[in-house]
Amino acid sequence: MMPDQVITNLMEDLRKGTKGMPLKSAVFEVGELSGITAKELEEYLQENADFEFLIEETKAKVRCRCGYEGMAEIIDSEDGEVVFMCSKCGDIPEIVSGDKVKVSEVQVKD
Ligand SMILES: [Zn+2]
Repeated sequence: MMPDQVITNLMEDLRKGTKGMPLKSAVFEVGELSGITAKELEEYLQENADFEFLIEETKAKVRCRCGYEGMAEIIDSEDGEVVFMCSKCGDIPEIVSGDKVKVSEVQVKD
């Protein structure tokens, strides 16, 4: 997914989650395989958000058929496409976590 699409989806989920109520603050968790970086989200929010925000970057976790389980080895990241592999055998592992942007905390205005 393109970074813009990831952000659009995220904002839609956020609005649905708060039923359109004005936000006071939100905390975002950006997975390193989510297709956007914390910096991209920050730039977007600085221009578009009328609430306070905090962005945390979270490491991805992968599981490979060779038995490896742990952090993904990121080879390349460009335009929302993150290329990664197993750091043990070089195969493409399965993503356990870290491929999403989550809203971990939201406060709406009183
Ligand atoms: Zn492996």
